[in-house]
Amino acid sequence: QVVTRFAPSPTGFLHIGGARTALFNWLYARGRGGKFLLRIEDTDRERSTPEATAAILQGMAWLGLDHDGEVISQFESAQRHAEVAHQLLAEGKAYKCYSTQDEIAAFREQARTDGKSTLFRSPWREADTATHPDLPFVIRIKAPLEGTTVIRDQVQGDVSIRNDQLDDMVLLRSDGTPVYMLAVVVDDHDMGVTHVIRGDDHLNNAARQMMIYEAMGWDVPVWAHIPLIHGPDGKKLSKRHGALGAQEYQAMGYPAAGMRNYLARLGWSHGDDEFFTDDQAKEWFDLAGIGKSPARFDLKKLENLCGQHIAVSDDAALRQEIEEYLAAADLPALTNTQSGDLERAMYCLKDRARTFPELLEKAHFALASRPIDPDEKAAKALNSVSDGILSELTPHVQNASWTRSELEEALNSFADAKGLKFGKLAGPLRAALAGRAVTPSVFDMMLVLGRDESLARLSDAAV
Ligand code: GLU
Repeated sequence: QVVTRFAPSPTGFLHIGGARTALFNWLYARGRGGKFLLRIEDTDRERSTPEATAAILQGMAWLGLDHDGEVISQFESAQRHAEVAHQLLAEGKAYKCYSTQDEIAAFREQARTDGKSTLFRSPWREADTATHPDLPFVIRIKAPLEGTTVIRDQVQGDVSIRNDQLDDMVLLRSDGTPVYMLAVVVDDHDMGVTHVIRGDDHLNNAARQMMIYEAMGWDVPVWAHIPLIHGPDGKKLSKRHGALGAQEYQAMGYPAAGMRNYLARLGWSHGDDEFFTDDQAKEWFDLAGIGKSPARFDLKKLENLCGQHIAVSDDAALRQEIEEYLAAADLPALTNTQSGDLERAMYCLKDRARTFPELLEKAHFALASRPIDPDEKAAKALNSVSDGILSELTPHVQNASWTRSELEEALNSFADAKGLKFGKLAGPLRAALAGRAVTPSVFDMMLVLGRDESLARLSDAAV
C-alpha cells in the first residue's frame, strides 16, 4: 500500500510551495487507494508555534487535503529517535564523540591551512571505549568513507554523492535530543511511508538520510524531489512576487477546486490537459509527469482555471464556499434571505466569474434591496434615456407571465415601438434593476427578482 506524508515545519503559514507539496502527496495516495499522513515537524522548539500548526491545518482544510489518522507530532517521538541512535551505537554503526566546539573549529582551521577538506573527522570514531572520558558527548553516525551514495530520484534521476563528502553526522546532541535528520528518517520508517514527495531543497538531506536507512537496514522510500516554484521572472518565488499563504488565496476569493487544479499543474502535467476535476487529477497524477525545471507562478492562469471551476460548480456548494470566503476575508456575512437569493441567482452568476469578488459583483442585484443605489456608471445609463421611458415600460411588462420568452417578447416589442435598439434599453434596465452596469442579462435578473420586485425597482428608477 502506498503511504505518503506531508511534513511541514510549523514556523509559519502554509505557503504556496508547501500547499503544492501537500497536494502532490495527497493526489499520489488518493489515486492509489493509499494513505496520506500529516506529520508536524516541531522538533525545533524555538521556531515551532501552535499558531503555525493551526494555520497549516486550516490551509489544508480549505484546500480539501484530508489526511488519514491523527496529526503526528515529531517532537513527541523524541524518545524513539534517541533509541535508534543508541541502537546504532550498540551495533558499532555510530560512536560517542567528545570533541568540543573549539576542537572542531581548530580541526577545520588546520584543514583549511593544509588545503584539505574541512569535513570534521572525529578522533573518537576509532577510539577504544575504555578511553572514553566522563564528559558530555554527541552520538555520530559512521559515514561510509569510500564509494558513492546514489539517490534514485523519480524526478531528478540518479543523483550520486561521493561518500568522502559526507561527514559523520551527529544523530544525538549532547543534551540527548535527536537531530532533525534522524527524526525524519525514523518517523518515515515508523509511519510506513513508501513515497516521499518534497521540495528539491531537501535533495542534499536525502544523501545524509540514506546513511541512516542503510545503517538501520531499512527500506529506502521512493524519493521524488520536486523543483521549487519560481515567480514570473524566473526567480525563486518570494513575497516580492506576491507569494502568499494558501489562506490568503482563500481570502482573495479563489475557489479551492481551482486552486487545486492550478497547483497540480504547477510542475506536473498530463498531456495538454489544463482544466481537470479532482477525480481526474487523482487518476492521472504520477511522478513521471513531474517536470525537472521549476514551474512559474502565473496568476492569470490561476484565475482562468478558477473561472472554469466556478462555471461548473454545484450552486449550493458554491454558495456555501462563498460564505466561507466572506468569513475568511472578514467581510460581512450574508443574511439568510441573501443566502437563499444568492443560491437562486447562482445559475446566471457562474459564467465568466473568475473569483468570488467578481461573482459577488454580478450578484449585487440579487443581494441588494430597495432602494437600489446606482453606481456612477449605472447613474449615467439611467440619464441616457429620455424621461419617462421606464414608466412607459411598466405597463408593457406587468401583465407578462414572467417567463423568459414572454419577457423577451414584451421588452423587444416595447423597444421596437419606441424605435430603440434593445441594447439601448438594456443599460437603463440594468441600472434600474441592479444599480450596476455589469450584471447578468436583464431577463435573468427579472426572473430571479420576480414580478413584484422587478416592477418596484423599475418604478423607483422611473421617478
Ligand atoms: N519539514 C520539512 C519542511 O518543512 C520537510 C521535510 C521532509 O519533507 O522530509 O521543509
